[in-house]
Amino acid sequence: MRDLPEWASIREVGPRDGLQNEDPVPVADRVRLIDALSGTGLRHIEAGAFVRPEAIPAMAGSDEVFGLIERAPDVRYTALVPNPHGAERAIDARADALEVVVSASETHNFKNVNRKIEESVAGIVEIVALAEDADLPVEAVISTAYGCPYEGDIAPDAVAELAGQLLDAGVESLCLGDTTGMGSPRRVDEVFDALEAAGVPVAGVRLHFHDTRGSGLANVLAALERGATGFDASIGGLGGCPYAPGASGNIATEDLVHMLHDMGVATGIDLDALIECALLAEKIVGRALPGQVMRAGPRTRLAPAS
Ligand code: ZN
Repeated sequence: MRDLPEWASIREVGPRDGLQNEDPVPVADRVRLIDALSGTGLRHIEAGAFVRPEAIPAMAGSDEVFGLIERAPDVRYTALVPNPHGAERAIDARADALEVVVSASETHNFKNVNRKIEESVAGIVEIVALAEDADLPVEAVISTAYGCPYEGDIAPDAVAELAGQLLDAGVESLCLGDTTGMGSPRRVDEVFDALEAAGVPVAGVRLHFHDTRGSGLANVLAALERGATGFDASIGGLGGCPYAPGASGNIATEDLVHMLHDMGVATGIDLDALIECALLAEKIVGRALPGQVMRAGPRTRLAPAS
């Protein structure tokens, strides 16, 4: 195994990316889950989205969520915002950072937000200005970075070029989003090659994988070997589509942390506490979640001798 980083930072996305793809759950349950996650050692939680409730009913009431959570002092609570209006709402709700998304695929971006990529980047420039006035950082996600359901593989150079534009726009950090689970270790390598060639500092780029095709943790390992130290994951693997039984969502946080710790990559997160959160998430959505360590337990927890 190649040299791996000594530590990795995990951003928990279950309360937003996860729950957004589940049937809506009450605000009180969202708050309960975020508060439990805040006690695990996680330092970064995507806590809600300021989108139109008609568009994404599961994220309605995110302002209430931000108002009710018990904030741990060293945890950053991020809010997804689609436009300047959403950014204003998130700032009013005292989000610690704003998250913006633009697709690397022209077709996907247009289908999603009815705008060209360059129009989305212009919108992000406006959001960065609002965030700067409020003294908040902006985290940018490049969606469909590993592949687009309409266009297939996007040219890695196009991903790198968009990354450069976003950094120029003043975003604090970049995340490569695996919107429909098309990531593979081969693709991760190609995108990293392009980022490095374009001079994008890859150590600061976060990776966001969905386990739709079972290669989520393999993608993480591929990225670790390229020096990546930031990963998104969702507690229990929350976020499979409720209408497609068995479909997985994001890689499960506890599965990711379990693998990282085993490889000597520290996260500062308590795995047992995380497993408790995964069980809580299961209770909240009322269905079995795809995370595996929550059921199997850590690999070194031995069965009692008979
Ligand atoms: Zn996602």
